[in-house]
Amino acid sequence: MIDPCSPASKSLLSLGQALERIKEAINPVAGSEKVTLKNALGRILSKSIYSPINIPPDRNAAMDGYALSSADIDREHPFTLGLAGTSWAGKPFQNPLQPGQCVRIFTGAVVPEQADSVIMQEQVKADRQAINFPANMPAGQNIRAAGEDIKQGELLCALPKKLTAGDLGLLASAGIHDISVKRQLKIAFFSTGDELIPIGRALEPGKIYDSNRYSLSGLLADPNYDAVDLGVIPDNKQFLENKLIEASKNHDVIITTGGASVGEADYIKEILESCGEINFWKVAIKPGKPLAFGKIGSCCFFGLPGNPLAVIVTFQQMVTPALKQLCGAPASNPLRLMATCTTALKKGPGRLEFQTGVLTQAGNGEFSVASAGKQGSHMLSSISRANCYIVLPAECSGIQAGDTVSVEPFSTLI
Ligand code: AMP
Ligand code: MG
Repeated sequence: MIDPCSPASKSLLSLGQALERIKEAINPVAGSEKVTLKNALGRILSKSIYSPINIPPDRNAAMDGYALSSADIDREHPFTLGLAGTSWAGKPFQNPLQPGQCVRIFTGAVVPEQADSVIMQEQVKADRQAINFPANMPAGQNIRAAGEDIKQGELLCALPKKLTAGDLGLLASAGIHDISVKRQLKIAFFSTGDELIPIGRALEPGKIYDSNRYSLSGLLADPNYDAVDLGVIPDNKQFLENKLIEASKNHDVIITTGGASVGEADYIKEILESCGEINFWKVAIKPGKPLAFGKIGSCCFFGLPGNPLAVIVTFQQMVTPALKQLCGAPASNPLRLMATCTTALKKGPGRLEFQTGVLTQAGNGEFSVASAGKQGSHMLSSISRANCYIVLPAECSGIQAGDTVSVEPFSTLI
């Protein structure tokens, strides 16, 4: 018997096929804006950046010590040089260094032009203005060349690039303060369902609190997204249609939860068919089978399932790659690693399954993973405990304790 959820059922795409369809259907948004370096963390660069200066700008000392010319080094005997002055970090020694002289120098200070060695202070005996060096000091030591890290005009950050803390430091060291980044994606999201009550109100009979908008607002907390929460929309076709059409006019992406299935009150697919275009609406993953992807005008639409765990899983597996592509971020696959599963896991063959897990690493470096608890798509308790997904292939029909499984550690998105 064919599992109605198996990819053999023709309307169901595999996750890989769905991701391929999403990739083909969307283009990065045009448009960029200027931000200050302070506000650039996590933003997507819109133009490659070249260094206007050498980094470091000057030849400077790598140690506290004495700068001298190697012509003055005596290879066979201890020798003495006269102290001409001091080169401080930020206050260079101004005069030319004469033969027979050395300069007191501190880490980061400019090395006088005539000097080509810095001798560590620990190797030297200072007697007021007479500085005594041992025999056979190595020449050319402890000096950082100008432009040693980056030459003037060299590429600092290449596209595609999401700016990290390290990038901010690098750009600051080149004196760059205004950065051209991709504009933020305009994203609207709302929950659908007559049973939903916003938090802050007393629960009524037969109702539940709307949790999906809170998961979504957490998942959408990213400096590249300008996400607007449009609240809860009841299961009313006209209402939903109006809301979707209105939101599609001034957003790049709309994300909804609920109503994407085939129940009497599930209108999302119908509306998308009449006022936009459906690309696909079912994917063979668990949790998360009913998922609609399409467009309303030029606005991308994701109709996520209503079940709260399915919302998080489908967002991370399908919406995240789409949003990354839309805002021009570098493409990357989620990190997967192999771990020994310490608990038995139930699974029927048919769909690729994401179960919540707790991943640990032993002192010898080996990974083990245990189930994080109840796996129902309507349950959120286990995702709150979990730090990874255990990824079980479609054909897998259960895991025994001791089996090796593939694990996807959570990124910063959860
Ligand atoms: P639906 O896809 O609309 O049939 O919803 C599937 C299940 O998810 C039902 O049990 C809904 O009550 C539940 N659900 C839908 N939306 C939400 C939400 N925003 N917060 C919590 N549960 C929800
Ligand atoms: Mg519903």
